[in-house]
Amino acid sequence: MPLLGAHMSVAGGVSKALDRGKSIGCDTIQIFTRNNNRWVSKPIPPEEIQRFHEKVKETGIWPVFSHAAYLINLAGPEEGLWEKSIAAFLDELERAEALGLLGVVLHPGSHMGAGEEEGIRRIVAALDRCHEATEGYKTLTLLEVTAGTGAHLGYRFEQLAEIRARVRHPERVAFCFDTCHAFAAGYDFRTEEGYARVMEELDRTLGIENVRAFHLNDSKHPLGSRKDRHEHIGKGYIGLDGFRWLLNDPRFDTVPMVLETPKSKDMHEDVENLAVLRSLIRG
Ligand code: ZN
Ligand code: MN
Ligand code: MN
Repeated sequence: MPLLGAHMSVAGGVSKALDRGKSIGCDTIQIFTRNNNRWVSKPIPPEEIQRFHEKVKETGIWPVFSHAAYLINLAGPEEGLWEKSIAAFLDELERAEALGLLGVVLHPGSHMGAGEEEGIRRIVAALDRCHEATEGYKTLTLLEVTAGTGAHLGYRFEQLAEIRARVRHPERVAFCFDTCHAFAAGYDFRTEEGYARVMEELDRTLGIENVRAFHLNDSKHPLGSRKDRHEHIGKGYIGLDGFRWLLNDPRFDTVPMVLETPKSKDMHEDVENLAVLRSLIRG
């Protein structure tokens, strides 16, 4: 049985996300550990870190992982922003390690016109710095498959594989597969054969065992559109079948899968999407 959940708000403190997740039946959750559109965030108070650890035990929600702030761009050519991005990602890793998280999901970044090879070179250099400064950490850097909008890297499995192959500490790097992004990037897993083909390609490039998290989102735009707009499960261009094969693939039984679909404060959309996903799982 796959581990299912959703991205949860940390309003009121990181530990509150676990209560919210529990209240709607999440097995696993994703959180932000810092303000996701600011460069600097206040440290998490030690009492709150303690409370978080207690709540993990109490709720049984596991794994928990975070998503890095959207401002971070480790692929960019501009020195000042690149240094700020490195400092911010380092802070993400420190928070994740203190909370005992599985890892931090990271968009590889945009080369902003400097070219893909230069972008990849800068990501590798930035990750090396972050990983050297956090030697011995258990928390993973989870590079996310992207839709490939604009100059964003990570829309081909090969690019993500190359980053992992070139960093000094590949054991610190794993991957997050976002269904909306991969579909928008052109990977078609809607039929059983298509799913098998995409997973075969994924295994050849990234290694199935290195995919440590999933984002389950349907797509508002068609296959290969390179647009990143999430839709409720079964209501977009991927459709229910695209999720059926994945949810019934025993290779991913212990890999956390979270929704990042539009939601309101009462989370009724998450409740519905989780019910739809669970209805696709065969006895
Ligand atoms: Zn993401
Ligand atoms: Mn995502
Ligand atoms: Mn997205």
